[in-house]
Amino acid sequence: MPHPASDAPQAPAPRHRSLNPIYARLPTTVFEVMSQLARAHGAINLGQGFPDDPGPLDVRRKAAEAVVDGWNQYPSMMGLPELRAAVAAHYAAWQGLDVDPEGEVMITSGATEALAAALFALIEPGDEVVLIQPLYDAYLPLVERAGGAPRLVRLEPPHWSITEEKLAAAFSERTKLVVFNNPQNPTGVVFPAGEMALLARFCERFDAYAVCDEVWEHVIFDERVFTPLMALPGMRERTVKIGSAGKIFGMTGWKVGFVLAAPHLMKGLAKAHQFLTFTTPPNLQAAVAYGLGKERAFFEEMRASLQRGRDHLAAGLSGLGFTVLPSAGTYFLTVDLATWSNAADDETFCRTLVEQHGVAAIPVSAFYAEDPVRNVVRLCFAKSEATLDAALERLARVPRGG
Ligand code: PMP
Ligand code: GLN
Repeated sequence: MPHPASDAPQAPAPRHRSLNPIYARLPTTVFEVMSQLARAHGAINLGQGFPDDPGPLDVRRKAAEAVVDGWNQYPSMMGLPELRAAVAAHYAAWQGLDVDPEGEVMITSGATEALAAALFALIEPGDEVVLIQPLYDAYLPLVERAGGAPRLVRLEPPHWSITEEKLAAAFSERTKLVVFNNPQNPTGVVFPAGEMALLARFCERFDAYAVCDEVWEHVIFDERVFTPLMALPGMRERTVKIGSAGKIFGMTGWKVGFVLAAPHLMKGLAKAHQFLTFTTPPNLQAAVAYGLGKERAFFEEMRASLQRGRDHLAAGLSGLGFTVLPSAGTYFLTVDLATWSNAADDETFCRTLVEQHGVAAIPVSAFYAEDPVRNVVRLCFAKSEATLDAALERLARVPRGG
């Protein structure tokens, strides 16, 4: 007996329509790839950047209390008022910025969402967007998805300097914005005042916006004081400043981002945010509001402890014969392979390192969209001394060759 439904018209067989090519052709992000390889090979993971301690207990307790005792429904779209006030107060105290928590602060689900909201809200199809390589891997697909045309500035080791010639070759009358990451992942550079002033002059000359990814602003060493690009003359009204609680408190899974921008920009950014995530878990927002108000000593101790990690790993690597490039901020330092092995490229080196020697690291070529620097490898030092020592022991077994 035929099934009665068999007489019914057949639904068309599913066709494999193409996906958006920007995402279809993208590889999986190098951070995920390396963390998976680290798990598969039982490696010590100095690749993806995250500390190996659980984060400040009082801040975690606040998040737990807020889940149990607090509001678990939608917080306001722009963020908990107490967190927006805490963000404004924090940046006033630490960076001398005067922002209105009502009209100039927005909370997002991590800096990643803030970047997407800013790029989607500001870029119109055909706009040119200046990107500085090495670049954090989220930028380029977001710019392209927004219809922007990337104009790449290429920085090289060992100084990774931004020069007038490089900016002049990238900026034009069609430039809508520049994405500026400072302190810079992966190089650990904190850009000097002269290079920031140069960039600000180009933004003014070409009437361009600056989307400033400053997630590493608190992770700076050697008594540095961080200056946001927004604080430079002429930049207040044209800058979108992005921060991340995940980095400030060393809890990278906490996706709580902050955006600071003048009201005319914020209005557009808020429209993009409302349909990306709309909001961010309220307990994390409450805990971050508490954390941002912690005494200066907390932030200073965090810097000092990461600086000890940097110095420990740098000394160990130098002792093994690696050329360690200076790191002024972030969780990362880089090594130049050129003096280690003139045959090694960073990708091959990192693959062999994780598969055969049990240490994961990140090839810096992954941060270039074109013409990659291939002789530099990034390692994360935000780990206990014991973890760093175990990694150094394994690194000592890597043969040096030409
Ligand atoms: N920008 C840079 C330069 C980063 O290094 C990271 C994360 N490591 C992010 C953005 C993403 O931050 P979040 O986790 O807050 O989304
Ligand atoms: N930003 C982190 C890093 O540079 C990784 C973030 C991620 O895995 N998406 O290691």
